[in-house]
Amino acid sequence: MPPPEMLQKPVVGVLLPLPLAGAYDYKLPAGGNAARGGLVSAPLGNREVLGVVWGAAEGTVGDNRLKIAEPLEGAPSLPPKLCDFIDWVADYTLNPPGAILAMALRSRGAFEPEARRIAYVRGVVTPPRMSAGRARALEVAGDGLARSVTGLAEDANVSPAVVRGLIQAGALVPTELPEFSPFPPPDDSFAAPSLNDDQAVAAQALRDAVAARKFSAHLLDGVTGSGKTEVYFEAVAEALRHNKQVLILLPEIALTVQFLERFAARFGVRPTEWHSDLSQKERRRAYRAVMNGEARVVVGARSSLFLPFPELGLVIVDEEHEQAFKQQDGAIYHARDMAVVRARIEDCPVVLASATPSLESFVNATGGRYSHLRLAMRHGAAELPRVKLIDLRQEKDPHDAEHKAQWLSPPLREALERVLAAGEQAMLFLNRRGYAPLTLCEACGHKFTCPHCSAWLVEHKYKRRLACHQCGFELPMPSTCPQCNQNGTLIPCGPGVERVAEEFAAFFPAARYSIASSDILHGPAETQAAIRAFARREIDVLIGTQIVAKGHHFPQLTLVGVVDADLGGSDGDLRARERTFQLLHQVSGRAGRAEKPGLVLLQTRNPDDAVMQALARGDRDGFYEQERGFREAAQSPPFGRLAALVISGYDGETVREIARQLGKTAPSARDVKVWGPTPAFYALLRGQTRERLLVQAARGVDVQAYLKAWLPQVKVPAAVRVTVDVDPVSFF
Ligand SMILES: [Zn+2]
Ligand SMILES: [Zn+2]
Repeated sequence: MPPPEMLQKPVVGVLLPLPLAGAYDYKLPAGGNAARGGLVSAPLGNREVLGVVWGAAEGTVGDNRLKIAEPLEGAPSLPPKLCDFIDWVADYTLNPPGAILAMALRSRGAFEPEARRIAYVRGVVTPPRMSAGRARALEVAGDGLARSVTGLAEDANVSPAVVRGLIQAGALVPTELPEFSPFPPPDDSFAAPSLNDDQAVAAQALRDAVAARKFSAHLLDGVTGSGKTEVYFEAVAEALRHNKQVLILLPEIALTVQFLERFAARFGVRPTEWHSDLSQKERRRAYRAVMNGEARVVVGARSSLFLPFPELGLVIVDEEHEQAFKQQDGAIYHARDMAVVRARIEDCPVVLASATPSLESFVNATGGRYSHLRLAMRHGAAELPRVKLIDLRQEKDPHDAEHKAQWLSPPLREALERVLAAGEQAMLFLNRRGYAPLTLCEACGHKFTCPHCSAWLVEHKYKRRLACHQCGFELPMPSTCPQCNQNGTLIPCGPGVERVAEEFAAFFPAARYSIASSDILHGPAETQAAIRAFARREIDVLIGTQIVAKGHHFPQLTLVGVVDADLGGSDGDLRARERTFQLLHQVSGRAGRAEKPGLVLLQTRNPDDAVMQALARGDRDGFYEQERGFREAAQSPPFGRLAALVISGYDGETVREIARQLGKTAPSARDVKVWGPTPAFYALLRGQTRERLLVQAARGVDVQAYLKAWLPQVKVPAAVRVTVDVDPVSFF
């Protein structure tokens, strides 16, 4: 007889992966496991929903009205630390925990046992009736290999019916194939690298941190080409030796291909991938392999942060300064910051790596909250490139009128000529897609704007279309002005990469070049092809947007020309200067990565600007110190806290009214200021009107508590959305 308490049906709180207020009470079957993390199938309305036992019941529902949640047969549980992490993220970002859980359960079917694969081998029975086909099939099966029905039919050149007949006769017997594992374990000693002194010191510090098996945070801070990846691979190797799992976060999928190869060169196999490009089946496999510990090292985009690692021992965030780590849709969170939180909850080290750290991480490292591991030298023989400013105000070329040169100044063209003559490679960088960012009617002044967004339509000359880079709206390039109906009056204003390429081709007709642009019209495959062609030296000059700035290694690249270094420097965003510096520093780092020295030319109209000066002097830390001073004086992050509210909806008047009400009801509190409401930068986006409020608070203020006290005061109709962005990184 089991003890009586075992016969009682335990009542628990079950969290469903839906944006509901919290966990719901359910009964488990008698003796059901009530431990946190257990997966259940829970009735909700007239459907069954996957849910997770979250904790004690609320007790708000009467016992007789409780429904029964069935534990999932044979499925593992979510690690309790992942549940803690989900609660933490929900609380910090002011999202319902179920909305965060949804990100952790994103692989449908991962909890069902994988379908078994059955194959057939030769049995001992000889069929009573033989035919030529049967004899052939049995002869082929005689080699002992297990084959599927169709596999054997093909190999023996018979119909599947012949094979099925042999199965019925007992001449072929079923056997279960071992489960196919695509995740062989990485070998920590496969190809140990030779490290320089700086690298060796940093690698040892990280190995010690992993061996200590407790939380610590490290900024791995080294110039481009200093070998950061080799260093943190040593931490990965140490974690493998301690039988721990490792998570490596990368900002973009585009970067993973090269990364996977580097990883395989060091560890003998590829790591497990996790990103949005995987098929359902691949996701299911990867998810399950993480959960059962088979996947030892996962490299992924920000969503991999919510994978169910049972024994996570190291988290690495590469290119930690990248804005792509900020998830902007749905639940808004910063994957770099949340990676530090996950490591703290898992009690393991986290490594943030960058050549141009975020100011936040730089302040944390120089202030002693993170250990600061610096790699000063470039790996091998490479030297840092020389950076020179070209003052566009001084460069008035008398030949320009005749050549119609607008974007490539004479010094940049001379440098290009030298590089091409020497058989080396060059890169031209402009962080603007398309041909021209604005199309204007010369006659009436009409500007083409998107009907759904407060944004200009960008001309894409090759595709002969105007496109909105915000919502994807497109129209064929018109020949007449829709406002004044005149023909031939439309002119492109300003350059995009396509236009720079056109000018380049006019000056250097013999040079081989390609455009690489992360473009809604060009597509990632074309971009990757251009980058590969450049790496193989099939082209001389690569003209591109920020897609070319990161991670790629081109030994023959000796010149980088930045067409408009001022772009993005003055849009009133507190991180604009930092971002400009980071981007240009990264682009510059592409030049001269092998034996040949590199030259970087920055075209600017503000050569005296602090960002330009710091780049020209190669004084990265000087820039950070100055930026730290600005931020500290303004009490902006990391010396103060920010939270943004975006109010959006299709009915502009209602949106503005809700924004006004929010503005009026903002509680007054010490050290908290509320700015707005004001129209957002994109006051119209995908047809929705957008208003913004910004909360600015001193560092010690509990911003979440402030928002929780404030927001429920205004009743928001279903047609209006209030999005909360704690620690915003962009201000559109
Ligand atoms: Zn016109
Ligand atoms: Zn648009």
